[in-house]
Amino acid sequence: MAISQKALVESVPTGLFIGGAWRDSSDGATLPVEDPSSGATLARVADATVEDGRAALDAAVAAQAGWARTAPRDRGEILRTAFERLTERAEEFATLMTLEMGKTLAESRGEVAYGAEFFRWFSEESVRIHGRYSMAPNGATRLLTLKAPVGPTLMITPWNFPLAMGTRKIGPAVAAGCTMVVKPASQTPLTMLALADLLRECGLPDGVLNVVTTSRTGEVMEPIIRDPRLRKLTFTGSTGVGRRLVEQSSEQLLRVSMELGGNAPFIVFEDADLERAVEGAMLAKMRNIGEACTAANRFYVHEEVAEEFGRLFAKRMAGLTLGKGTKKGVDVGPLIDAKARDGVAELVEDARSRGATVLTGGAPAPGRGYFFEPTVITDVSPDARMMREEIFGPVAPICTFRTEEEALAQANSTEYGLASYVFTRDLSRVIRISEGLEFGMIGINQGIISNPAAPFGGVKASGFGREGGFEGIEEYLETRYVGIAP
Ligand code: NAP
Repeated sequence: MAISQKALVESVPTGLFIGGAWRDSSDGATLPVEDPSSGATLARVADATVEDGRAALDAAVAAQAGWARTAPRDRGEILRTAFERLTERAEEFATLMTLEMGKTLAESRGEVAYGAEFFRWFSEESVRIHGRYSMAPNGATRLLTLKAPVGPTLMITPWNFPLAMGTRKIGPAVAAGCTMVVKPASQTPLTMLALADLLRECGLPDGVLNVVTTSRTGEVMEPIIRDPRLRKLTFTGSTGVGRRLVEQSSEQLLRVSMELGGNAPFIVFEDADLERAVEGAMLAKMRNIGEACTAANRFYVHEEVAEEFGRLFAKRMAGLTLGKGTKKGVDVGPLIDAKARDGVAELVEDARSRGATVLTGGAPAPGRGYFFEPTVITDVSPDARMMREEIFGPVAPICTFRTEEEALAQANSTEYGLASYVFTRDLSRVIRISEGLEFGMIGINQGIISNPAAPFGGVKASGFGREGGFEGIEEYLETRYVGIAP
């Protein structure tokens, strides 16, 4: 029998997970977790202190040597079991995520499937960590190349994908033999706490995974980053915070992976299948209420088809129903908080004041919760803030272009370089434009690009490092070489 939402939330451990045990914050403090559809407090979780952060790192360091010695198959089996249990308990995890983050249940189910897949993928990769044996060119020595786990890793994750941003890091770290301290976003800690409990049940040894929730974020994280026992930092979040963390990491030259902000262009050529392009636009814009680093941020549509595309897109957007994500028939949940909603409203006002026309939406929705209407805007000036900044909400600005060169130049005119989307039926153009776009990921005739079997990551101010694919595990391995004189 399905349990109630209240009972589900109450079933989640709310302490810090350190060395395989749950404990309170050392000063007894807690922080609230809010339901963004109503502003109501869902639960309170432990609010870690600097000492708690250090204790979590102590536990990860103590477990590292033993964990690195475990058989790759054993590590893989833990991940495989976690994949299966997560899949069995998909409904619970999806509901929890919807409650603390706001997205609809359908989207949360999608995230559970996507997030669990990282465990399955990396369970398979754990037994394929290869080295190399070769002869030096002069024949004098033999060259043995080895891969070793990087070591204790700090993982800092954002609120927009509370599960998948964790499994994308935990999966490869477990497979490679690294121990870790995970710090989920303070707005959405419940999913990660439930996941830690699930991994414990699946046999992950004590101390391999430690979870610290805190509102004193910078104060608790910085000493861990500067601790010489830490070997790697992996961060998913905003470019501003990422820059600060890279600076902190430079002191001890930490291995660093940065999955940062995006400002994805969505280019529609005159030969595109327009219905398919609109379908792709709905996915690329509205997945996660527009709160995705891969979200289409700027739409560049060829002038011959721009009016038709705008009309069809606005019609689809106007037909969406806003509401609490757990309710049936709801297509779009609330934004994460009042600041996010007001920020989106400011961007729309800025575009309007520079002459843009709102085809549909354009305002926060009345009532409780942090809702914003699905919005399509045309005639947006290139100087408008929303063309340069991440919108992180359900707003689609459309600009037009005449030539392929112009489209490419506009698409690349950003400091970011994460995702990009192109709709065309011309194969030669696909090749030209894929080679010309300065983005880590390019979707051709598709509005969703994330795939656990593909290397996810950006260039320029969107960061460095890759998650998923064959590349994902490399981030948690270092290369050593042994020269052997025969
Ligand atoms: P954020 O403010 O940068 O926060 C991300 C994480 O960093 C949170 O856990 C946050 O903790 C923590 N943090 C904040 N200040 C910190 C500090 N001084 N030291 C250490 N940690 C700190 O980003 P967000 O608003 O949660 O997430 C949205 C951003 O993430 C967007 O820019 C989006 O594009 C990006 N993102 C990128 C990817 C990708 O793969 N490239 C994926 C998803 C999201 P608190 O919650 O406690 O503040």
